[in-house]
Amino acid sequence: MEAPQKRDIRNLTLEELKAELEAMGERPFRAAQIFDWLYHKGASDFAAFTSLSKGLREKLAGRFVLGALELVDTRESSDGTAKFLFRLGDGQHVETVLIPAGKRLTVCLSTQVGCKFACAFCASGLHGFKRDLTPSEITGQALFLQKTSGLELTNFVFMGMGEPLDNWVNVEKALRIMNAPEGLGIAARRMTVSTAGCVPAFKKLEAFDLQVNLSLSLHAVTDRLRDRLMPINRRFPLEEVVRAAEGYIRSGGRMITLEYIVIQDLNDSLDDADGLAAIARRLRAKVNLIAYSRVEGLEFETPTPAELARFKRRLEERKVNATLRLSKGSDIAAACGQLAGKFKEKHGTNPPGREQ
Ligand code: SF4
Repeated sequence: MEAPQKRDIRNLTLEELKAELEAMGERPFRAAQIFDWLYHKGASDFAAFTSLSKGLREKLAGRFVLGALELVDTRESSDGTAKFLFRLGDGQHVETVLIPAGKRLTVCLSTQVGCKFACAFCASGLHGFKRDLTPSEITGQALFLQKTSGLELTNFVFMGMGEPLDNWVNVEKALRIMNAPEGLGIAARRMTVSTAGCVPAFKKLEAFDLQVNLSLSLHAVTDRLRDRLMPINRRFPLEEVVRAAEGYIRSGGRMITLEYIVIQDLNDSLDDADGLAAIARRLRAKVNLIAYSRVEGLEFETPTPAELARFKRRLEERKVNATLRLSKGSDIAAACGQLAGKFKEKHGTNPPGREQ
């Protein structure tokens, strides 16, 4: 008879690990010790878990593996943004971006390999959807950067490759592992989950007990344009998304931030700004404006600083709190999915190793 396949212990939340230990005839408090080795000490071998008995270490090694990501490329931009490309166990790859801004050092995490939603301006959607990331692969990105950068990472945004709410089961576990003091110990208010407008998932978020931030990617304020830019809008039209967001706020969710990528001559008119202001006021939301960053092979253009300033001014005249985020790391293909896309063009789906 074939031995059962070993599971990745890093896919388990603390509560799940306690239950596993009990089922193995072990004391549940050992789970916190195991988390300490996994997430504080960053051990990569059960043999190193020296606070556990040899018997328990052997039991763990007989049932579980320790998932790890392999770094295959790193690029650093002149503005300090750094991008990391990781190879996963099955040869797929995902990217993680480290973005410095003032005193903040934000990590942008991927949640899927590729994306189903094929937004017209996004490199992640260009190559289709491959699969969901596991909790271990999501937290592994944060753990890797915490361990290797030696820097104090202040914010974690789930805005890299993929739609987080389309992989909610795994994202929820990742958030729990990252938030647990025995895990990565990151405060919920320092974590932001983004969505392109997955309406059914808003309900799941309403029931989620951790007060993480929610960011809604709007990018257009009419169904006509949003249908074109974000095909998910054909399934969940704008009004439905805004109503779902209102429901989330009513249920006691934290404040929502609206993300709006400004694309020249497409969604940057004063009428667009007025439509955006109306939605922001309805949701009492802040707006993050992001200047579109050119993606090779896509038709869109970056607005000029004057165009961006005019758009932002209009929002402010409508009493909306708007922040302008200049595109970071454009010299290293830092927009979501761009680096992974370049790897695919160059190497196919299996990058052969670190690029020189
Ligand atoms: S913007 Fe987000 S939802 Fe749209 S294709 Fe890119 S990763 Fe997917």
